[in-house]
Amino acid sequence: MLQTPRGTQDILPEDQKYWQKIEKTFEKVASSTGFEKIETPYFEYRKIFEKGIGTTVKTFFQEIGLKNLAFEVNSLGCPSCRSKMRKVIVNYYQQYLNVICASCKNRFEKNPMRLLDCKEAVCQEVISGAPALIDSLCTNCKEHFKSTLEFLDEMQVPYDFNPRLVRGLDYYTKTIFEVVPQDKTSSLGGGGRYDNLIESFGGQPIGAIGVSFGIERIILEIKKQEIEIPETPKLELFLVQLGDLATKKSLSLLFKLYNQGFRVSVALEKTGLKSQLKVADRLKVPYSLILGQREARDNTIIVRNMLDGSQDTIDLKKLMDYLKKRLFPPTS
Ligand SMILES: [Zn+2]
Ligand SMILES: [Zn+2]
Repeated sequence: MLQTPRGTQDILPEDQKYWQKIEKTFEKVASSTGFEKIETPYFEYRKIFEKGIGTTVKTFFQEIGLKNLAFEVNSLGCPSCRSKMRKVIVNYYQQYLNVICASCKNRFEKNPMRLLDCKEAVCQEVISGAPALIDSLCTNCKEHFKSTLEFLDEMQVPYDFNPRLVRGLDYYTKTIFEVVPQDKTSSLGGGGRYDNLIESFGGQPIGAIGVSFGIERIILEIKKQEIEIPETPKLELFLVQLGDLATKKSLSLLFKLYNQGFRVSVALEKTGLKSQLKVADRLKVPYSLILGQREARDNTIIVRNMLDGSQDTIDLKKLMDYLKKRLFPPTS
């Protein structure tokens, strides 16, 4: 959709904090507004919700700290409204076929609705004179759109009605929206209803609404607006393992620590105590966990304060509590 799917491109270390801030804020806002999250197994990053998207989207951008964003809304109506819109657009564009850009000529043939999406200056002018899409809405769809806008008013979600807003994908019906920065050069995210999507996959006819965000674009906007995002905390722990049994055990311990929100590093290729502690020093972790042969056998572990070199031997079962209570709370 809007963003490069994660995994196709490395996230630069200096951008890590932005990704984390955005993802965490999204989860927080979504769960605090009572939505069930479904992370679809699709390649693209997408979250689907049931309702109240306007408030959620507004809260999300507020929490991130972004200002001066417009929440643009429009309606694409039902399939019969849509075919009417297509005809109106094709009709309107006849007189501009010599003016519009090359990709718009292609859109004219294949997907005329998307003509309204072109960012080329020459096409922008044509778009600004295009007929408003809601003029093609049937009575039902017009009613629906009206009540949607009234609902937004009631929820105090400010919006801009954009009569020429379209979405890139065909499955949208009725209400669509987009979040755009002041200069309107890009879209930070958007979505809408897709009442027929589930049915088209063979499911029940059931209303649905979805939103997708372009994380890279949001990051660009955060940088542009010079919003401070705190650095993600540095590594907290280093796990030293000595001997075969300890190495074996250290893997499950690592995952346990990760799951509890601790940031842990390990140097599995190194075998000696000294060489591993050297790495821990270099990483400037405040504490190292040392799993030696005896500790691995006894189900204990040594917690070493890297600043003063003091050590405590802890029952492995009590390690999480010990770390949480005595040292520091997880940072997640
Ligand atoms: Zn309709
Ligand atoms: Zn164009």
